[in-house]
Amino acid sequence: MRKAKDNENVPKRYYRPTLTTCPRCGEPLRRRWTLWDKYVVTLEGRVHIFSVGYSCSRSRCSQAQVIHRSVEAEQLSPKGSSFGFDLIVQIGGWRFWEHRTLDEIATLVNAKHLPVSRRQILYLIGDFLALLRAGQPAKLEAHRAYCQRHGLVISLDGMAPEQGNEMLFVVREANLDLTLMAETLYSSRADLISRRLLEPIKALGFRIRAVVSDADKNIRRAVEASLPGCPHQACQVHCLCEAGQPIFAADRAMKTDLRRDIRAKLRPLSRGLNQSPQDDPQVAVLTDYDEALRDALRADGLSPFELAGLILYDRLQQLETSLRRCQKKGGIPSCRPCGRLRPSAKTMLSRMFN
Ligand SMILES: [Zn+2]
Repeated sequence: MRKAKDNENVPKRYYRPTLTTCPRCGEPLRRRWTLWDKYVVTLEGRVHIFSVGYSCSRSRCSQAQVIHRSVEAEQLSPKGSSFGFDLIVQIGGWRFWEHRTLDEIATLVNAKHLPVSRRQILYLIGDFLALLRAGQPAKLEAHRAYCQRHGLVISLDGMAPEQGNEMLFVVREANLDLTLMAETLYSSRADLISRRLLEPIKALGFRIRAVVSDADKNIRRAVEASLPGCPHQACQVHCLCEAGQPIFAADRAMKTDLRRDIRAKLRPLSRGLNQSPQDDPQVAVLTDYDEALRDALRADGLSPFELAGLILYDRLQQLETSLRRCQKKGGIPSCRPCGRLRPSAKTMLSRMFN
């Protein structure tokens, strides 16, 4: 539940029409009143949006009563929604193009410090599908000639965000990466998949050459019923993700351990660096290492092949090699000969990896 005080420090943004003069008589437009205002969560954070209405400043103008508004403000978020189109599209992209799970999306959203709950992410995925659906007829029309000549290879992707709740399904043309259908089904029963997804695709009238999906039993049955004889292949990304799951989980555990260990060692060192004189070149070098380490700790993975733990391990090793080389050289030539900091900086170097 959001409290009134949460709105205190939200930045305000005012929008006015792009027109500055009256299209009828050419007199300048004058600010009238705020047409609407609302809080919108965008990718940059939460902002308070004001749409300000303008009208002709000449009272005798025949269009003096016409209120001009900002098109840009209207295009920020869907009507009645407090989430920006940019956020909706980003979440949809993470889900359906990068195949991120709900947990991964929640982590990505948290990393941007956006006030969006897991439940809201689900709603936003639904909104994203509605947007896809709205744009679908025009896109299909643009590819009609291709579809007629080559037929369709369709991919069917279902997502059950929470056990026992509705499923979100997306049907795409695999070669064009074109979304053909986006539907929410209240069950993943085979007859429902047939009726709501496959039959409408058949009704488009193109030859369906093959189907790709995960190995779900209901989808297999639905394809057999609606598209008898159509080649149906299990999606390789899904298979690899499933097969790689134990490795991915083990890697994630390793990443968590590594992060915890390094962070615990890094904290007192960063504090020491902050308190050291900033014009000391040795401090500058160590600060760079400190930042490189922090950056390495942010490594993120993507199932099945991008293993964040291994990426982190590699980066840590590179940093260690670089630090050891630095230690061997015995300092930086331009460094003051016997500054007060010297011993502590040296100790820092050796402490970082011991
Ligand atoms: Zn006018």
